[in-house]
Amino acid sequence: MPPLYILMYHRVCAYTPDTACYFERGTAVTPEVFLRQIEWFGRRMKFVTLTDALQKIQLGDNKYPLCVLTFDDGYQDSLLYATQYPLTLFPIANHLADHQTLMFIDHYYALLHHAQRRKDINLSHLLPNIIEYPSIDKNLCWWVKGPVKQYLQTLPIKQKIGFLTQLGEYLIVQKTPRNQELYLSQQTLQQLACSGHQIGGHGQTHQRLTTLNLNELCAELTAAYHLVKVCHSKSPIAFCYPDGAYNKQVIEAVKQVGFNYACSVESGFWSADMKTLFNLPRFFMRNEWDEKNYL
Ligand SMILES: [Zn+2]
Repeated sequence: MPPLYILMYHRVCAYTPDTACYFERGTAVTPEVFLRQIEWFGRRMKFVTLTDALQKIQLGDNKYPLCVLTFDDGYQDSLLYATQYPLTLFPIANHLADHQTLMFIDHYYALLHHAQRRKDINLSHLLPNIIEYPSIDKNLCWWVKGPVKQYLQTLPIKQKIGFLTQLGEYLIVQKTPRNQELYLSQQTLQQLACSGHQIGGHGQTHQRLTTLNLNELCAELTAAYHLVKVCHSKSPIAFCYPDGAYNKQVIEAVKQVGFNYACSVESGFWSADMKTLFNLPRFFMRNEWDEKNYL
């Protein structure tokens, strides 16, 4: 039986100073690369939504290899080149165009991009353990993937916001993008669902679910579930673990709240003999890619 390929995208956008952090992290592909990738997969596989793929596999109706295009985090630029294909989107319940606050990673990248103080940086008042800070221009990779980002990821949401506020003051940042410029709105998600695309849950605020207590975990999942329910009246419904973080307790909670399957960020294709539906692997699609990895 042919395997199921689930591709994971975040943003499709041109490389500009505004988007450089995303390319550095690997969560953006240019429109040219995206179209080349789609063309390559489209020649070999049939694009379907995640629910359709799993239903076809369960019914044995998958003579051809199937491919699912997933887009995480609800960026509006993901739609510019892709709506003619069936999409599976995983927006974040509290970070839509309708809301006020950016997701923490978008806030952090915006600070890096809009910083006026870009060198001679000393954050010892915020992070005493780090001795040297490279200039943002000379070593963006350090800022995007290095100790500041790693530290930020460990903080609970309130502290994260507090840290970013202080960081913004230190780096002298006058403005950051508004939600309307980055994310899809609830209304657009509902329209997309009506035209055959699939909307799944991706948490309320994109917290790593393995770091939360049971109440916080339920709040994250319930908000995500409600967003999916205003888009789709029917089951089954999909979840996608923020940052791919899950454990037994998280899987149990995801099931309890009412999700029917969930995507991870482990790499590989899924086949029906992999019994669980709660860690569907996905291929992380980057701007640098090699077709041989998918053969
Ligand atoms: Zn995400």
